[in-house]
Amino acid sequence: MRVALLPEVTAFLKRQHGHFIDGQPREGTGAERIEVINPSDDQPIATVATATSSDIEAAVASSLSAFNSSWRHTLPAQRAEVLYRLADLLEQHREALAQLETLQSGKLISLARNFEITTAAAFLRHYAGAATRITGETITPSIPSFGEERYTAFTRREPLGVVVGIVPWNFSIMIAVWKFASALATGCTAIIKSSEFTPLTMLRIAEIALDAGVPAGVLNVINGKGEAGSALISHQDVAKVSFTGSVPTGIAVGTQALQSRLTRFTLELGGKNAAGFLPDCPIDKIIDGIFESGFINQGQICAAAERFYVPQPLLDDVLTGIKQRLEQLQPGDPLDEQADYGPVANRAHLEKLNAAFAKARQEGDQVITGGHVLDRPGCYVAPTIIRAHSPNASLLHEETFGPVGTFIGYDTEQQLIEAMNAGPYGLSASLWTNNLSKALQLIPQINAGTLWVNMHTLLDPAVPFGGIKSSGMGREFGDEFINDYTELKSVLVRY
Ligand code: NAD
Repeated sequence: MRVALLPEVTAFLKRQHGHFIDGQPREGTGAERIEVINPSDDQPIATVATATSSDIEAAVASSLSAFNSSWRHTLPAQRAEVLYRLADLLEQHREALAQLETLQSGKLISLARNFEITTAAAFLRHYAGAATRITGETITPSIPSFGEERYTAFTRREPLGVVVGIVPWNFSIMIAVWKFASALATGCTAIIKSSEFTPLTMLRIAEIALDAGVPAGVLNVINGKGEAGSALISHQDVAKVSFTGSVPTGIAVGTQALQSRLTRFTLELGGKNAAGFLPDCPIDKIIDGIFESGFINQGQICAAAERFYVPQPLLDDVLTGIKQRLEQLQPGDPLDEQADYGPVANRAHLEKLNAAFAKARQEGDQVITGGHVLDRPGCYVAPTIIRAHSPNASLLHEETFGPVGTFIGYDTEQQLIEAMNAGPYGLSASLWTNNLSKALQLIPQINAGTLWVNMHTLLDPAVPFGGIKSSGMGREFGDEFINDYTELKSVLVRY
């Protein structure tokens, strides 16, 4: 049964959408608009304005003013209180936000409700708690004293200022929360630039944040394509950019930030994450593991596994098992609670996946199941399993960010380690075994920012997350993020 849209969602969709600046929805000053398309039927659901330079100027001026006049001076516990209230309100608005997210991204409604909103609230509460854990150090200097004087020194962590969060389309709420909650907890103000494919949810969340007590200007939202993000990065009053998205865009963002005024930046980028199954793994556990690692949200999870390494003698059985499992999935309208497989998030992404399938076939990979677009309206791509023709197959090295698992067998542990470490990325990886000693021996040898054992993709707010190699710079979550949103000031005192 398709979920009936709440009246507040229907009413929200009818509004003239633009940005959210200084505590108010703004229609924007330009004429250019972006159509927001529901990927489950290719139908437009709303339009949103593209930011002009005067919209950008207004957002940054509002954020800077809010930073200087109030937010940087609030007590940590006051900032925490506001973020805790926002977490509660997100949960109260769960259904409406989940419906909006499903409409704009194609995410299954169950995942939007029970994962995206629940997780976003959990992250908000984590960042709220961190607001009161921002500390410096005291240091006893060793410089000699020639008279009676003494010295002491201490460090302070001070908020950077206006932080721009640029986010992708796969989790439009949760990833934006990572950015703005980090900023608000540390005393920075935030401007979120949503993805042009999923611009609606943050506009609503900014309104809810106002109700939670986030003062006007502390959280602004700008819409538009890459140009809007780029204009924000080059603004002289922006102190930091926190970016999540693809590697090429991330490199452009980092380069521009450096060239602007050494603007601080952190990058959470793409990956080609590996899952390695050791010979002791039972076949049914391997099949469950592959499904969990690679196919939730149609594979559109940055940390999801896309490369699967299986002991050579098990490979045929594993491919047969996962093929059967994927062929049972029921594609449907993501607003239908019975559907267990939805569309990919937009048509451009579908075309990229189609091109990847064509390349794989051309190179000689074997398509075990899928490898095509589904014959129905909307952006549906069959869940796909590919057997790579060689370790050099493009699909073992190039991110698809879709429901595509590429498999190859291995013979020795050394081969497994080398294969998992191959390529430019290092966001995440997983090892699957019941042999704890073996897992502990292998953990230091696998190059990834996050390594799971017997699971994949679980993110916890208390556990730092970020990529190594080309998968990014910096860490989110834990208390690690604090260093990236604050500047360290050293104070030396003679007394
Ligand atoms: P993308 O890089 O195309 O776009 C991301 C954001 O950057 C969008 O808001 C876009 O408008 C903006 N943008 C584009 N060009 C820009 C420019 N020159 N300057 C400033 N902003 C610009 O990525 P996408 O297609 O939206 O998302 C998919 C990618 O994101 C995948 O590679 C995926 O792995 C990655 N991702 C990474 C993580 C992580 O935590 N590491 C999480 C989710 C997604």
